[in-house]
Amino acid sequence: MPDDAIAAHNTGIHAALTAGWSALQRGGTAVDAVEAAITVMEDDDTFDAGRGSFLTRDGRVQLDALLMSGSDLRAGGVACVERLRNPIQAARLVLEKSPHVYFVGTGAERFATQHGMRLVDNTELIVPRERQRLMDFQIAEAAGHKDTTFSGKQNEKVSPSAQESHDTVGAVALDQYGNLAAGTSTGGTLSKAPGRVGDSSLIGCGCYADNLSAAVSLTGWGEPIMKLVLGKWAVDRVAAGATPQQAASDAIDYLYTRLGGHGGIILLGPDGSISLAHNTPRMSWGLATPEGLQQGVTRN
Ligand code: ASP
Repeated sequence: MPDDAIAAHNTGIHAALTAGWSALQRGGTAVDAVEAAITVMEDDDTFDAGRGSFLTRDGRVQLDALLMSGSDLRAGGVACVERLRNPIQAARLVLEKSPHVYFVGTGAERFATQHGMRLVDNTELIVPRERQRLMDFQIAEAAGHKDTTFSGKQNEKVSPSAQESHDTVGAVALDQYGNLAAGTSTGGTLSKAPGRVGDSSLIGCGCYADNLSAAVSLTGWGEPIMKLVLGKWAVDRVAAGATPQQAASDAIDYLYTRLGGHGGIILLGPDGSISLAHNTPRMSWGLATPEGLQQGVTRN
């Protein structure tokens, strides 16, 4: 996160915390709180989720999201949607109203409209900042200044610049009924190939929730996170006795040592213990508890 983006992140996270906390205060569930918090961040152009997301190689916004309930392991995922302002709300509909867990592309959009969501034009999700970012990236790529994974084959130890994957949003919550939930929403990585799905919306990769272990959401370069099924890896460590803080930092260490990946993780245990770890230069975070709201930017 560059210096000039910190204030906008703080504002966006404050609004998300307020929305999530109000949902809990009204007697809502952890799933309600996560959906509310992520909806606010999708609506905020600052983040790589909803409007304002990174663009695909061909200049479109293509969104992925997952929402998961830790009490019963119900989950809803959507990927490659181009006409939904709030993919996390579509994920909620999948979680609640479908026997299936995962919808992609136009099938996901059709499912969402059948349940009352409105389709928007893809251009409504695009902001000028991202057109410029894509153009700059593609010029640098053409000039050979980008060691990109997109055109080449997969490399076991690939660690592309954190500049090209950041600002995915995630939330985890614990409600008064003792239930956990997690959600993650993203526009993916900069200049991704159309149709590419990252870790964020895949169960156990960028998101997972189980009352018996923990709720987790991740951000970072999606391909290594997927290969390690890192979200599930982290919550399994909690189930095996690790503290949330240990599990979070072990997950980021494992991501780096095994595949050279970078990323960040938030993790919440069923007893309310929270943790955060990242190997990117910075990560912004927020926390709402009965004691009040806290937020900040951690640095490496
Ligand atoms: N994990 C996301 C993806 O690879 C990107 C991010 O977290 O910023 O799609």
